[in-house]
Amino acid sequence: MRHIDEKAIRMVEDGRVTVTWTGDDAGAGTVDGDTDTYQVQFSPAGRVCTCQAGRHHRVCSHAIALELAVAYALV
Ligand SMILES: [Zn+2]
Repeated sequence: MRHIDEKAIRMVEDGRVTVTWTGDDAGAGTVDGDTDTYQVQFSPAGRVCTCQAGRHHRVCSHAIALELAVAYALV
């Protein structure tokens, strides 16, 4: 498993992900990161996160964590 996935799972388990909105294959929320709270969204068009990696359009653990939290909530 990739490091980024392990970190994302840990953030969900620690309750650091707050889902504020969910839609069709999409969602939005906030994630308490190590140094800041990030605004995160995902949709079929892609992922958006206000962290450094997200601002450079790289996949970050926060976006994965939000997707996991939304997926868990649907179970
Ligand atoms: Zn991020």
